[in-house]
Amino acid sequence: MSKVFFKSVDNIGPQQTQIDQIKELFPKISPIKKGDIVAVKIHPGEYGNTTHIRPVIVRTVVDLIKEAGGIPFVTDTTVLYKGMRFNAVDLLWTAEVNGFTQASMNAPIIVADGLLGDDSVDVEIKGEVLDSITVACAIAKADCMIMISHCKGHPGSGFGGAIKNLGMGCLDKDGKTRVHEVGRPAIDTEKCIGCGVCFDQCVWGALKMDGDKVYGDKAYVDHDLCKGELSCLESCPQEAIIPPEDVAEKMQMRLGEASVGPIKALSGRIGYINWIFDLTPGCDCFNFSAPVFSRNVGIVASSDPVSLDMASIDLINRKMHEDGNCGGVHDVWGIDPVIHLEYAEKVGSGNRKYELVE
Ligand code: SF4
Repeated sequence: MSKVFFKSVDNIGPQQTQIDQIKELFPKISPIKKGDIVAVKIHPGEYGNTTHIRPVIVRTVVDLIKEAGGIPFVTDTTVLYKGMRFNAVDLLWTAEVNGFTQASMNAPIIVADGLLGDDSVDVEIKGEVLDSITVACAIAKADCMIMISHCKGHPGSGFGGAIKNLGMGCLDKDGKTRVHEVGRPAIDTEKCIGCGVCFDQCVWGALKMDGDKVYGDKAYVDHDLCKGELSCLESCPQEAIIPPEDVAEKMQMRLGEASVGPIKALSGRIGYINWIFDLTPGCDCFNFSAPVFSRNVGIVASSDPVSLDMASIDLINRKMHEDGNCGGVHDVWGIDPVIHLEYAEKVGSGNRKYELVE
């Protein structure tokens, strides 16, 4: 059983700000020794997203790392889908637009998987489905890490917190593909009208239409090119792109297993902070922010990412029940988010049992 330290939003006011709460939580989970190079893993939000973690929270953590004798850098990785974080140049531009700069952070921002998202270290994990996973180089080679995760819903895993940030956010493009590849979709040829709208959405050129004998004037998915990340689904006006039936469970299984890669690379020297504010249904990779599904909860911190996410989900569910919103995180996408925590636990990323320390 691991300790999860909780600072409630209900206690926030002029005498106890969110900054004060971070300062109280940080020493309880800091793995930092004097002289350590410390990765500060964040998600700066896609261009257009307005509910990502705030720069002032990251700046507070950076200053605390320096006070502890560490040498911090702020970091994130490139993504698999079309958007403004596909390569390091676009990612740094987006981070700047969203307020994350060397000046505001008091630390350099380094894209952990390099210019094109292929700079990584292969880490053996020996899971049920993944033998190894490619961890972004600048994260794998740091001495230790502080991970700050914004809790929110997620269309693939139901919930995005620390495990999502480890098992996806700390990987290069190859690692992300290993997690997502179970999502390679098919085309419903009854529905497809051959409009070609989806072709522009896929940066990998996996959606095609040859006009050949097999496919005629319908789209098809080239599975040799497709990464399975499924951002194409929303682009089709006919809802003709069909994901595999069991994709949510299979993806969560891989996500949970992949989470142990960065933990092994850093010999477990990671402190985790979950920011449970602005609980949008979609993740910060969306280029918009939809209305929230729950009121704010607060901030939790732990040295165990599985305990931390389990406690975050339980606290959100409690808040929703208090408000008479009888659903829970599970109902946001109709996906049980605990599946990826179970697989993370199985592979040794942490423990779902926790003690909440308020
Ligand atoms: S967007 Fe939909 S309907 Fe249009 S070509 Fe692609 S799959 Fe077919």
